[in-house]
Amino acid sequence: MPPPLKLKIFKALLEEVIHRNLCEGCGACIAACPVSAIDMWHETPTLVSKCILCEFCYYSCPKTETSIEDIEKKIFGRTRKPEEAIGIYLNCYSARSKKEEILKVAQDGGIVTSLLAYALQERVADAAVTSGVSVKEPWKPVPKVALSFKELLESAGTRYSVSSILVGLMSAVEEYAKNKIAIVGTPCQIIALRKMETSPHGVLKLAEKVSLVLGLFCMESFYYDELISKYIQKKKGVDINKVSKFLISKGKFIVRAGGQDAINVPLDEVKMYARLSCHTCTDFTSELADISVGSVGSPEGWSTVIIRTERGKKIFEDAVKAGFIEYKPIEQVKPGLNLAVKLSKIKRQSAQEVLTEMSASMPIQ
Ligand SMILES: Cc1cc2nc3c(=O)[nH]c(=O)nc-3n(C[C@H](O)[C@H](O)[C@H](O)COP(=O)(O)OP(=O)(O)OC[C@H]3O[C@@H](n4cnc5c(N)ncnc54)[C@H](O)[C@@H]3O)c2cc1C
Repeated sequence: MPPPLKLKIFKALLEEVIHRNLCEGCGACIAACPVSAIDMWHETPTLVSKCILCEFCYYSCPKTETSIEDIEKKIFGRTRKPEEAIGIYLNCYSARSKKEEILKVAQDGGIVTSLLAYALQERVADAAVTSGVSVKEPWKPVPKVALSFKELLESAGTRYSVSSILVGLMSAVEEYAKNKIAIVGTPCQIIALRKMETSPHGVLKLAEKVSLVLGLFCMESFYYDELISKYIQKKKGVDINKVSKFLISKGKFIVRAGGQDAINVPLDEVKMYARLSCHTCTDFTSELADISVGSVGSPEGWSTVIIRTERGKKIFEDAVKAGFIEYKPIEQVKPGLNLAVKLSKIKRQSAQEVLTEMSASMPIQ
């Protein structure tokens, strides 16, 4: 008789993901649990009450077995060709917000906040799940359900630690009763969302309420305590309450405070604070989003915008027509899309090497 199939419950997530330092902190397992038995404890999902063996947490996790091909077929109607190194897309632009209030607070060209502002104004979305800042811990991102232009401005800009945005989605659906939600996330978070939307174990009560998926480019994110407390405050002596912006640009990690660079060091100096799970992520440009946005490829103050789906194309074009955004073909700017392609290939190859090493040394039972 064959051995009984092992149930893929929270215990399996612990063994295959969390204890192997593969957890991305996206919050998908928490959001997927129908009985709220999982919570985040020190950036780690933890079982806090009785598991009902439903397996939703396991199958929503971006780090458990995932068929990107199956997701691509469902989202784009086909799988990528080998030469599509940044995933499937329709168009790519360099773009910038036309709204002064947005440009003042945005990380790069303010495209994410502009698209969300347009979506809320035109009721393409009735809420936006973004990442605001914790009241208690400066610069710690926390998921936020933004309902107004003012709330979008408050959550603009980049925090380089993880935000459990799928918990934000759960809140938008279950607490705010929203039906058309725009969501912003890093590549791992977008993979989790697409698993909820397309897998046989889908969490459709959440995923079906999403009307727009905006993905960010991301090489890695950092452990909050390590980067902010240990490095920035203790090692560098910078008062975190005075920091106005963090940025990673041209291989430098930069922290702005009081109108100047309080820290400007080679990125390698802070790489040791990156989440270990990021070393196994193969996606740089959020390849499964409707629209992906990043700085790489465009001049300072502009964003590289990759339009991937018809839904993304329509909202981008409508936001341009409504005077929210200006844009140029990416071919007209420097350094251009080739840099994003190059970094995507580097990230994918390096992650595949780490994954191969891991599966050789710690095979999953
Ligand atoms: C962890 C991280 C790493 C990144 N690494 C790169 C990189 O290597 N190369 C690159 O080109 N771009 C990277 N980006 C993206 C870049 O920082 C900008 O977010 C992007 O260019 C959009 O700029 P914008 O001006 O259009 O966004 P804005 O209009 O300023 O909007 C930014 C949006 O991102 C949300 N957000 C902020 N912090 C987080 C977070 N931690 N998790 C999820 N959402 C968040 C905000 O709530 C807001 O909705 C990274 C972003 C993050 C969060």
